[in-house]
Amino acid sequence: MMENLTTNAWSSENYIDLLPPNPIREPFANAWIYMNKHYTKFQIATFGSLIVHELVYFVACVPGILFQFVPFMRRFKIQNNRPETFDGQWKCFKLLLFNHFVIQFPLICGTYVFTEMFGVPYSWEEMPAWYNLALRVFGCAVIEDTWHYFLHQALHDKRIYKHIHKVHHHFQSPFGMTAEYAHPAETLILGMGFFWGILLLANHFIILWLWVSVRLLETIDVHSGYDIPYLNVFHLIPFYGGSKFHDFHHYNFNGNYSSTFTWWDKIFGTDSQYKEYCAKLEASKAKKGQ
Ligand SMILES: [Zn+2]
Ligand SMILES: [Zn+2]
Repeated sequence: MMENLTTNAWSSENYIDLLPPNPIREPFANAWIYMNKHYTKFQIATFGSLIVHELVYFVACVPGILFQFVPFMRRFKIQNNRPETFDGQWKCFKLLLFNHFVIQFPLICGTYVFTEMFGVPYSWEEMPAWYNLALRVFGCAVIEDTWHYFLHQALHDKRIYKHIHKVHHHFQSPFGMTAEYAHPAETLILGMGFFWGILLLANHFIILWLWVSVRLLETIDVHSGYDIPYLNVFHLIPFYGGSKFHDFHHYNFNGNYSSTFTWWDKIFGTDSQYKEYCAKLEASKAKKGQ
């Protein structure tokens, strides 16, 4: 047992050695060890996850909330003829609180049961290598994107659209907070895509927090309504759709059904209207430039 622990501890040290020295390493290890020592697994999985979700969600929304007061940022707003309104943002915030605490919190409570059932470890000693975690989070994104593409398209079916997905399309020009502005049934249906990756790929509790953080940052980015060049690290990921791609879905209601990547829309041709729209924009820009 002792030997096993030592081996695992070394493997967790090794991964850190592969990274350049960074000031976060030690405080992060200390914080993780402290958390495990002072809180039960139930408290970490339930209240810890709720805090991570709320913190990441609202902190990620802050830049977008501030941009509306900065005239310089107006040039980066994709649908700049449709500015955010106070009423719209307040309406969005109220439904978000309901969704987060009444719909999502009970689901978060279930994560503790899942980690116990499958023996998912919480300890620092069993922390997998960073590249192992990164690959698993990428796997979660691929699975979620696939689920999202097909189920999202199904929610656009005329017979059911008005009952569920219409709520998310209330904002034709989205802003960051609208990422989770949705009918409770949609939160459950599309939210399942988040959990498939966890069920298949979680080898440590930290995967839950990493994946939820990446997914929230990504969905708030694509709903931000702003396309800011060069600064967005998500655009380094091949086939990443980004804000222009999903903003078009809200503007046009048709096509661009994927959440993260562009490949499913390319394969099934559901990005054809988007491509036409981009070509038209380019042509009009070229004309103006003449
Ligand atoms: Zn839609
Ligand atoms: Zn959307």
